[in-house]
Amino acid sequence: MKRRNFITNTAIGATTAATLAACSPTSPSSTEAGESSLPKIEWRMATSWPLSLDTIYGGAITTCDRIRAMTGGRFDITPYPAGELVGGLEVFDAVQNGAVECGHTAGYYYIGKNPALAFGTSVPFGLTAQQQNAWLYHGGGLEAMRKIYAGFNIINFPAGNTGAQMGGWFKREINTPDDLKGLKMRIPGLGGKVMERLGVNAQSLPGGEIFVALDRGAIDAAEWVGPYDDEKLGLYKAAKFYYYPGWWEPGPTLEVFVNQEMWETLPKEYQEILQTATYEANMNMLAKYDALNGDALQTLQEEHGVQLRQYSEDILKAAQKAAFELYEENASNDATFKEVYEPWKQFRDRISAWNSINDLSIASFIANNK
Ligand code: CA
Repeated sequence: MKRRNFITNTAIGATTAATLAACSPTSPSSTEAGESSLPKIEWRMATSWPLSLDTIYGGAITTCDRIRAMTGGRFDITPYPAGELVGGLEVFDAVQNGAVECGHTAGYYYIGKNPALAFGTSVPFGLTAQQQNAWLYHGGGLEAMRKIYAGFNIINFPAGNTGAQMGGWFKREINTPDDLKGLKMRIPGLGGKVMERLGVNAQSLPGGEIFVALDRGAIDAAEWVGPYDDEKLGLYKAAKFYYYPGWWEPGPTLEVFVNQEMWETLPKEYQEILQTATYEANMNMLAKYDALNGDALQTLQEEHGVQLRQYSEDILKAAQKAAFELYEENASNDATFKEVYEPWKQFRDRISAWNSINDLSIASFIANNK
């Protein structure tokens, strides 16, 4: 701001405060007078996460803390870990039927309700975190997803991203597509559907239940997020081979769901604040994961004897082929899926061409010339 404007605005601010004080002698300040016009509201937020996963559960905490701070405590949402209000994968139903006002979860847990919900989180061989945000906020993505959620009495807000994930924990090495056949693996969303086409028995378990299932041999392999979270879950104690890349989740978005009728009861100011807080949660979670994952990967390898393995090109090519066959089939059977998928695919092809020129070329030069 130029100095002259600053002086003018300050003078106007002082005059306004003086006028307000003169008009309402019982109010000591204009701020207090403004606050008292907005209602006190208490909500509960069900989540899909255990408390121990501070990054992903942190998406719920950031959202609630920032809303509380920006409203002087008047709009107070309390987050709850998975299992306290409802089970980790029951957040959608609880928000839809109004059992809770809002939730923090991942849309792709609920592809049984509508397979196109996967695009709001991440799909195999889809968008990186940066590309996903571009699609959601400026590529028609959020609008497309909101159209679907409206049919479920829910309004959704991006509120976290893990960045590109790891490709999961295996008890033995996986070298060819044939090695996947018959494996029982915890992998949700369309990633699970693609794995099924490669012969895997895919299962969806909430984060807090993965370790026990893998450790006891109820499943042979499991994916969760990446080094920082996977170390916290102790997955390295149950399987030693840690694969990359997590081709089914190049940049998954976590979301805040709000019951549509409850959303409409909010004052406009609280709606704006909730939206702003979710933007902050969306950015903050990605920054935190990116800052922590490198160190955690080093600890897993050096202190826990984890063996890092890259998926072979044969597996990646077979998986990508199966993924796009699945999308094309879904699009021909389901008009909603087609409506999201076709513009999404155009967006993916364009942004991937651009990012290979800018981000990818400099990142690969730096990685190879340290
Ligand atoms: Ca995952």
